[in-house]
Amino acid sequence: MQRQYKLWLLVICCFCGGAWAEGQPPLAQTVKVTTLSTMLANDGLGEWGYAALVEVDGKRILFDTGARPDVVLQNAKELGVDLSTVEDVVISHFHGDHTGGLLTLRRAMSATNPKALSRLHVGAGVTQPRFNLQRQQRNSFIDVASAFRATGGQITEHAGPVQILPGVWFSGPVERKYDESNWNPGLLVQRDGKYVADNVAEDSSLFIPTKEGTIIVTGCGHAGIMNIADAAKQVTKSASLLAVIGGIHLYGKPDPVLVRTAAHLKGLRYLVGGHCTGIEALFRLRELLGLSRNTAVVETVGSSFSLSSGITAGDIAGWVGPDS
Ligand SMILES: [Zn+2]
Ligand SMILES: [Zn+2]
Repeated sequence: MQRQYKLWLLVICCFCGGAWAEGQPPLAQTVKVTTLSTMLANDGLGEWGYAALVEVDGKRILFDTGARPDVVLQNAKELGVDLSTVEDVVISHFHGDHTGGLLTLRRAMSATNPKALSRLHVGAGVTQPRFNLQRQQRNSFIDVASAFRATGGQITEHAGPVQILPGVWFSGPVERKYDESNWNPGLLVQRDGKYVADNVAEDSSLFIPTKEGTIIVTGCGHAGIMNIADAAKQVTKSASLLAVIGGIHLYGKPDPVLVRTAAHLKGLRYLVGGHCTGIEALFRLRELLGLSRNTAVVETVGSSFSLSSGITAGDIAGWVGPDS
């Protein structure tokens, strides 16, 4: 990079208030994440599932699609969220509680805009067959993907981190440096001709670097939030984490795991823990991370996190209002 060009970038970043470092991806200026499916609901319907609308600098992505075919459709309507203008959709992994609304939403929204929810991003291997102990195939997303293509939708499998929109990174499959084992045992996958436990290898998250740190949006966190946080730091070239939003699958974990996880996430400023995070785990992480009722809440349908105003959630989420 020429010296003059470098200096100009530095000047521009100073005006933007950004902590720009060479090689660091562009920083998002405005970010809002609105929850459309999780168990608790301020407005709309709760379900065991996950979905959120991610808005970054005027671009919008639907992250996961809930469990039941109609819940995200109904919740979006009730919350006044227009999904017909959203063209990119992410599926974090193959489980039905994240993929169940995809076809309903694509069909309903494409009636208004043929491009609505037409570009689907997934981690490599999401359509790999999974088997129960009786060796029956159990990956329902294989059929969902075929039906999605039949609507004219395009699916892109990403084997590694990729910027899918300016300022928004899709992680692709995450390296499992730490043995967090954040998935329910029971399903198998074939590797080298043998059946082994399915660790949901394709599990992928979104990373959004900002001047205040990186925002992570994760569906079920099967890759493990410590692994996901390390991947986010590597991709964004920033050591600071601003927010973790979504499911991190700690609901059944014993206290030492929560202590280890909190130590790894030290410095995290916001935790919006929905879906499989677990309510007990959320409160314990709040305590261990030194967060408050305004900075660590149980995620609800209709709650949101924005870069400008932090968390906005109902009192049902344990939120008491903006920090004074
Ligand atoms: Zn899952
Ligand atoms: Zn899930």
